[in-house]
Amino acid sequence: MGRRSTAMNADAESLDQPTTAKNQSKVVEADQETRSMQGDREKVNSKQSAIAQASVSSPRWTIEDSEELYRINGWGEPYFSINAAGHVTVSPQGDRGGSLDLYELVNSLKLRNLDLPLLIRFSDILSDRIERLNAAFAKAIARYNYEGAYRGVFPVKCNQQRHLVESLVKFGKPYQFGLEAGSKPELMIALANLKTPGALLICNGYKDREYIEMAILAQQLGKIAIIVLEQVEEVPMVIAASRKLGISPVVGVRVKLSSKGIGRWGTSAGDRAKFGLTIPEILQTVDLLREADLLDSLQLLHYHIGSQISAISVVKDAIREASQVYVELAKLGAGMRYLDVGGGLGVDYDGSKTNFYASKNYNVQNYANDIVAEVKEACVERAIPMPTLISESGRAIASHQSVLVFNVLGTSDVPTGAPDPVGAAEHLIIRNLWETYDSLTVENYQEAYHDAAQFKEEAVSLFNFGYVSLPERARAERLFWACCQKILEIARQQDYVPDDLEDLEKIMASIYYINLSVFQSAPDSWAIDQLFPIMPIHRLDEEPTKRATLADLTCDSDGKIDQFIDLRDVKHVLELHPLHADQPYYLAMFLGGAYQEIMGNLHNLFGDTNAVHITLTPNKGYQIDHVVKGDTMTEVLGYVQYDSEDLVESIRQQTELALQEKRITLQDSQLLLQNYERSLSRYTYLSS
Ligand SMILES: *Cc1c(COP(=O)(O)O)cnc(C)c1O
Repeated sequence: MGRRSTAMNADAESLDQPTTAKNQSKVVEADQETRSMQGDREKVNSKQSAIAQASVSSPRWTIEDSEELYRINGWGEPYFSINAAGHVTVSPQGDRGGSLDLYELVNSLKLRNLDLPLLIRFSDILSDRIERLNAAFAKAIARYNYEGAYRGVFPVKCNQQRHLVESLVKFGKPYQFGLEAGSKPELMIALANLKTPGALLICNGYKDREYIEMAILAQQLGKIAIIVLEQVEEVPMVIAASRKLGISPVVGVRVKLSSKGIGRWGTSAGDRAKFGLTIPEILQTVDLLREADLLDSLQLLHYHIGSQISAISVVKDAIREASQVYVELAKLGAGMRYLDVGGGLGVDYDGSKTNFYASKNYNVQNYANDIVAEVKEACVERAIPMPTLISESGRAIASHQSVLVFNVLGTSDVPTGAPDPVGAAEHLIIRNLWETYDSLTVENYQEAYHDAAQFKEEAVSLFNFGYVSLPERARAERLFWACCQKILEIARQQDYVPDDLEDLEKIMASIYYINLSVFQSAPDSWAIDQLFPIMPIHRLDEEPTKRATLADLTCDSDGKIDQFIDLRDVKHVLELHPLHADQPYYLAMFLGGAYQEIMGNLHNLFGDTNAVHITLTPNKGYQIDHVVKGDTMTEVLGYVQYDSEDLVESIRQQTELALQEKRITLQDSQLLLQNYERSLSRYTYLSS
C-alpha cells in the first residue's frame, strides 16, 4: 500500500502499486500522465483453476496474506484496507482523512438496534468520487489547453435514494455538478433537487408533452434543462411545446454511434440500439428545427454506448466518431455548445486493471485525457469552438460509497475426516473404495478420482437393485468423500491441476448460509452474473481454512453466490473462516452502490435492508446522519395488498375457534397471537 495520491492528481485506482510476480502477466493500465495505449489484451484466461491458487497452509497467517487473497488493494484502494486487528477499515477520503474500523462500526450500530443485513453509506466516499472525477477532467483540460469546461451530471437511475441525491447535489456544488433524468419520475426528482446555479439538468428517456413542457418551463426557474431527443417523434413535440409556451428550448440529440460498446451493455450503441437517432434522422431533425427557426436551440450532442466499458479503446473510438458528428452539426448551423459522452466509465470490481468484464484497463485520468484530447483535436481541425464536456458517470460515482454487511447463519459441509478401516467381510464395493482411499498418492490421485467416482456410482446402482443396504450405502458415500478430500489436498499442492479435477473444489465446498436476499441486495449478481468483491470484515489475521459458496435466505436455488472475483478469471469458491459457536461472522459486499438498490426485488418478501449514512468527524469519530429503517413485514405484505389488521384478525378468529374446540390452550393461543403481531412490525430478515 505505497500509495500517496491526493485529490488533485487523482484517481481512486492505484497506479504505482508494485507489480508482483503474480500479476506480471496481467495487462497493467496505462500510465496516469499519458493518454491510454490503444491496444488491449484479454484478461489472462488461465486454465489454472481455483484449486491451484488455494493457498497452502502457512505457519502464520498475516493480514498481508488476507490482502492478497481478497485483493482488497486492487479494488478497494484508497477506501478499504485491513488494520492490524485483522478488521476491514474504511478511509472515506483515501489517505487525506481519517479511517474507521468497519467491524467496530457494525458492532456499535447493532447496539443501536440496527440489525444485519445493514447497508452502510459513506457520504465522504461519495464526495471523494465527485472530487476525483472533476479533478481528473480539470487536469486534462489544463494539460491539453482545452478551451472549454467540464460539467458532469449524475444519472439519477443509478441510485435514486433521496439522501444520496441530496448529498450528491451538495458535494457537487463547487463543480456545478448536475443531474441526468432518464424518466419522468426521475425528472421530478431532478427538478426539485438541483438548484446549483450553472449545473446542467439533462433530460433523457422517453418523453411526453408534460415531460417536455416541464423541462422547458424549468428554464424560467433558472435551470439549464436540456431536452435530449432520443426519438424522431419527439422533435415535433418539442417544437409544438416551444411554440405554445413561447420559450426556446435547449435541445440535444442522442446519436446512435456505429462504434459499439463491448460486454454486457454493448448493445446500447450501434445502428439497432434502443435509443438515439441515426445519422439520417439527425439530419432530418436539423431540417425540422431549422424550419421551425429553432436550429439555435440545438446545442448538445449526446451518446451513451453502454455501462462498465472495460476497454479504453472503445471509449476512444466512440469519442472520435462523436467529435466528428459534433463539428459537422456545428458546421450545419446548429448552436452547438455541449458534448455529452454519456456513462460507461468503469469500476474495477476485481482489481485486475484489465479489460475483463469485471474490470477496466484504464483509470479516470486516462478517460478524461482521451476525451479532452480527441474533442480538442476535432474542433481545432475544423475551427469550431470547443464544447463544454459532459459525462453522465453513474457507476463510477455511486458504487464505492455503500458497503453491505451481513452475517452468516450457519454452514453445511460435506463429511470429512478419516473413515474407519474396512474389514475383509464388508461388501466388495466398500472394500474397493477403501483400497482407493488407502493407496492414494501424488502419483495416482487423478486416476484415483475416477475410480472413486465410479465405485460410488456403482454403490448407488447396487443399492437401487437391493444388493447394498442403507448403512452400506452410507459407508460407501463417506469413503467417497474421504477420497475426494484427500485428492483435493494433494491437488491444492500442485502447480497444475488437470481439467477433470477443476470441479472438485466446488463439489467439496462448504455452503455458508447468509442472512441476505441476493434478489434484494445484489440483483445483478443473480441476473447478469456481475461480480462484486465479498470478504469477511474481521478475523483477517487468521487463515480462512474453509472454501465456500454462499446460499441466501430465499427458497430459490438461484439465490446463491458462487462466483467470486479473482486475479485469473473468476473463482467458484470463497475462502472463509470456520464459524465459532458463540461468535457472529460478518461478511461484506463492496462496490454495490450503483443500480443494486433499486433493482432489488421482494422475492420471498425479503424487503429493503436497514441503511445508515455515516460521515467522519474531524476528531477521528463518525456521526450517523440518517438511519433508513428497512422494510417491516407489514410493509412488504402491504406491497402485495395484504392488510396487517386483517391478517391478525384472521389469526385471532382461528385461535378462538381452536379454543372453543379445545385444540389449543389459552396460553398457547396468546403466544401465537403475540408472535404474529410482533413479527408484523419486525425486519424481514432473521434476527441475529
Ligand atoms: C445508465 C446510463 C448512464 C449511466 O451509466 P454508467 O455506466 O453507470 O455511468 C448514463 N447515461 C445514460 C443515458 C444511461 O442510460
